[in-house]
Amino acid sequence: MNVSDSELVESLLIKEGYEPTNKVNEANLLFINTCSIREHAEDKVHSQLGRFNLLKRKNPGIIIGVLGCMAQSLKHDILENKSYVDIVLGPDSYRKLPELLKRHKFNKKSIVDTKLSKFEVYDNLFPNRKNGVNAWVTIMRGCDKFCSFCIVPFTRGRERSRSIDGIINEVESAVQNGFSEVTLLGQNVNSYNYDGFGFHILLDNIAKIDGLNRIRYTSPHPQDITVELLNIMAKHDNICNSIHLPLQSGSDKILKRMNRTYTNAHFINLAKKIRQILPNVGISTDIIVGFPGESETDFHDTLNVMKKVKFDSAFTFKYSPRKGTKAMEYNDQVDENIKQKRLEKLISLQNLHTKQRNQSLIGRIEKILIEKESKRDERKWSGRTDSNKWVVFDKENTKIKDIVDVYIKRTSGVTLFGEIYNKAKAA
Ligand code: SAH
Ligand code: SF4
Repeated sequence: MNVSDSELVESLLIKEGYEPTNKVNEANLLFINTCSIREHAEDKVHSQLGRFNLLKRKNPGIIIGVLGCMAQSLKHDILENKSYVDIVLGPDSYRKLPELLKRHKFNKKSIVDTKLSKFEVYDNLFPNRKNGVNAWVTIMRGCDKFCSFCIVPFTRGRERSRSIDGIINEVESAVQNGFSEVTLLGQNVNSYNYDGFGFHILLDNIAKIDGLNRIRYTSPHPQDITVELLNIMAKHDNICNSIHLPLQSGSDKILKRMNRTYTNAHFINLAKKIRQILPNVGISTDIIVGFPGESETDFHDTLNVMKKVKFDSAFTFKYSPRKGTKAMEYNDQVDENIKQKRLEKLISLQNLHTKQRNQSLIGRIEKILIEKESKRDERKWSGRTDSNKWVVFDKENTKIKDIVDVYIKRTSGVTLFGEIYNKAKAA
């Protein structure tokens, strides 16, 4: 979402005559688009701002801006303790940037605008995308779910959706500009609702766009995954066979405290139903360990759900208390060492599952969209299966954006290795 928001900001600035640069020493504007989801994300922003400050000491004309989620929660701290920051803009205020920059040139005063909007969806403001294979397309913003651990509803405000027409226009123009894949984005992507039209209707319409080879979306909430949505995914070849299904915890007690609105039985059944309707689907997840009150038994409940579902991959986190959220007020916070130990256990179980799920692909022929050169070997490409697994193989006579049949030969664990399947060669 932040990459996508940065592309929006870039397009606004280009219209004002600014040019992007990769050389930080040459920039007169330095903006950082921030994330508040965990303390670690915020720490990284503080260190980056420290580096920007050093540059500003050498060149006092530089304008420094903090954009996005941290702007919302840290505006006072930033203004009181970091006087070198000129502009603080929340995620709904980007349109004001050109006007604010003009104002700042005139009076040199720090500017803060972190007001959240019930309506801003940045429709008809096209992002400035880098050339590539995948285009990010934001379809809704904000979140009304209020999971008790999560800062997003406070930093990004209420849920709102873009018009179907606006989204389709943007996807069509991305396809015309050479993108073969889009990823639809939203904090709660399947809560999409525009004039009564839900997420599955939107997907059905996007899938019909000529020349669009692949559609992905993230992040959905398990509660809002419907059979209609799964049927639309099954109906269209270009909607990727992959679902991100954040579990967070496998303990009913903890799920309730997290305000996740589902039980572990519901989640396990949902995963089963997904695999029935979408055979060979890739299912990934997010899991938090060490949520307040999580006992050893609760943690084992999480491991048990993992064993039952066997996720293809998982993003795993230690619970990080966020100011203003309900979970921060709980007085049974879990010790940091215990969190670390649980995290390690969880990661090693997931590594095993990832390997097993990947091994089940060995001997199959998969359609791979070539995305980039392999980091380790310039003679090889890297691309993804439609179930969202990375595969590395010899380039032969193919190029980026080609979709090729690849015979899967082995896996190192996370990555798969194969070779382009050539019918003539096989015969
Ligand atoms: N909307 C998505 C998740 C968005 S945030 C959903 O509902 O699933 C991405 C992930 O960050 C979450 O799924 C959660 O696992 C993690 N996360 C959010 N807040 C966190 C916190 N306070 N501590 C640790 N992890 C957190
Ligand atoms: Fe945060 Fe996702 Fe819950 Fe919304 S649904 S509060 S974004 S974890």
